[in-house]
Amino acid sequence: MSAPDTELQAALESLAGTGKLLVALDFDGVLSPLVEHAEDARPLDGSAAAVRALAALPDTVTAFISGRALDSLRTVATPDPETLLIGSHGAETWTGPNQEPLQLTAEQAQLLARARTAVESVVARHPGCRLEAKPAGVVLHTRSVSAPVAAAATEDARRELGLLDGVQVTDGKSVLEASVVHTNKGEGIRALRKLTGATAVLFAGDDVTDERGFAVLEPGDVGIKVGTGDTGAAYRVASPEAFTAVLTELARLRAAAVAG
Ligand SMILES: [Mg+2]
Repeated sequence: MSAPDTELQAALESLAGTGKLLVALDFDGVLSPLVEHAEDARPLDGSAAAVRALAALPDTVTAFISGRALDSLRTVATPDPETLLIGSHGAETWTGPNQEPLQLTAEQAQLLARARTAVESVVARHPGCRLEAKPAGVVLHTRSVSAPVAAAATEDARRELGLLDGVQVTDGKSVLEASVVHTNKGEGIRALRKLTGATAVLFAGDDVTDERGFAVLEPGDVGIKVGTGDTGAAYRVASPEAFTAVLTELARLRAAAVAG
């Protein structure tokens, strides 16, 4: 496990000294390596331990912010009770036991049913693609099919969903997601910052949807892109394994800062 590079190390040292720290983390591709079957994803042991260590520190809040539906996120991430959860890219949130579950309006529910029907028809036309139903959306998964089939199915779904007024369509890695609740990870981070009163935020993500999160970071925050691809994040690490070193170092620095 190699140490973070010099610039990132300096940013972590500065971040660790903030009054109230929010550590907001994407799950898949950040805490967990990407896997063929989404239900098989699990956090790397070192990263899970670092998150637990951070969550146990005073004035330090941990949060997972994922495209997964909340139920799915809980199943794979097994978060400790202190960790706040944002699922479905911001459409679902869990910030404590008194939180109301997501309620769709009648129009949203109707629109969601039509979006599901549209994606069902796409899956029927492109065998091997898969549909995932979420509380506020529906996802076309193309990870298991050849690149030409994936491209054709994605184009087909984009066209069908484009006919539905009020459906927000988002691209991800081997997924096309339709949501009837208009939100994104940037809004999720804004909400968490406000809720927690954080004076600085660390946000890490690996996918195109995480760019909305990097875009709302402020001076003093630290954004880390995990893996390859264009990004607005100020820092980058190569892999979830490399990110374990970052989280471990942040937990060490933060423990020292709050003890001092
Ligand atoms: Mg991800």
